[in-house]
Amino acid sequence: MPVAGSLPRTAVVMNFRLRRDKLLRALERENFDAFLVTHQANVHYLCGFTGSAGALLVAERGCVFFTDGRYAQQVREEVKAARLIVSSGPLLAAVAAGVGNAVGRASRGPVNLGFESDHMSVAARDVLKGLLPRRTRLHGASGTVEKLRAVKDPQEIECLRHAAQVGASLLDSALAAIRPGIPETSIAAELEYAARHAGAQGMSFDTIVAAGSRSALPHGRASDQPIPRRGFVVLDFGVILRSYCSDLTRTVHLGRPGRDMRAVYEAVREAQLAAIGAVRAGAKTSLVDQAARRSLGRVGLARFFTHSTGHGVGLEVHEQPRLARNAGGCLEAGMVITIEPGVYLPGKGGVRIEDMVLVTASGGEVLTTAPKELIQL
Ligand code: ZN
Ligand code: ZN
Repeated sequence: MPVAGSLPRTAVVMNFRLRRDKLLRALERENFDAFLVTHQANVHYLCGFTGSAGALLVAERGCVFFTDGRYAQQVREEVKAARLIVSSGPLLAAVAAGVGNAVGRASRGPVNLGFESDHMSVAARDVLKGLLPRRTRLHGASGTVEKLRAVKDPQEIECLRHAAQVGASLLDSALAAIRPGIPETSIAAELEYAARHAGAQGMSFDTIVAAGSRSALPHGRASDQPIPRRGFVVLDFGVILRSYCSDLTRTVHLGRPGRDMRAVYEAVREAQLAAIGAVRAGAKTSLVDQAARRSLGRVGLARFFTHSTGHGVGLEVHEQPRLARNAGGCLEAGMVITIEPGVYLPGKGGVRIEDMVLVTASGGEVLTTAPKELIQL
């Protein structure tokens, strides 16, 4: 069934040149003559390609996009402001041939080529090294494009706002499907069916439906286990719309919760609100994490909160920044993050509450508007 807030037909026009200018400034600081982007989300971010096999060579004198024959037509429609090379042979051979052209034949000194060390296998690096002109020096770099992606531009915020809104609107279809005796996968199926009808390109990750004692598993993917008569059910899911991910968690209770379980739920809710309250541009990410942990600590539950407080979300469901105890850095206006503390009591059950939050100069704007009071089914 279609849900409220169906997908607007107008496409969002991304400013790829602006993004690449930012990247070029970062490359200058690293002293790279050119940079090879091979992580598909980063390629997408920089030139608009949505396929699964492409590489982008970024240099001051222009960008070159490499792909194979399967994407010949698609790249003409999608890829903006780059020279297109559709290769009939191995992609890395085409890339190596393109490096010399991209950095110019005139310069005689060594050519410093950066590559994404987080996203290239050792084998691929060795092949590339063997193919490149001799004077090329390869330098692994980590997180160069990811750092840029952490701060969203207005077009991305529009996409994320919409994905968050549609994602949150699907909660009701999941709740309507929950009945004791049916497998968790059936609830995931109803939710994903509704997501498709709402225009989702896919789910951001394998839908989590974890009921009863399984709710104590922070990553309890929907299983064939039947829903019990009593206990918590954790629902954690996201949709992909216009390539941007949503991410939302709600926990509901089957039957009447005892006083202890109600207290656990309220403690997580308070911790989540405390962390959201700590969000603003300039705040240390570790302090946002600490706000949740301190809140749980006041009721003796901090040791059952076994993961980090949140993560950035965008073209990928897990992006920069990380909001963790040992994370460095500060929030910046335009980041879109999740706030998702949880408490997991082995053998008993668990609670997690997660929202997507846009970081602003004065605070945080919650993008996933779904109720947070304990729902009893
Ligand atoms: Zn989630
Ligand atoms: Zn998340």
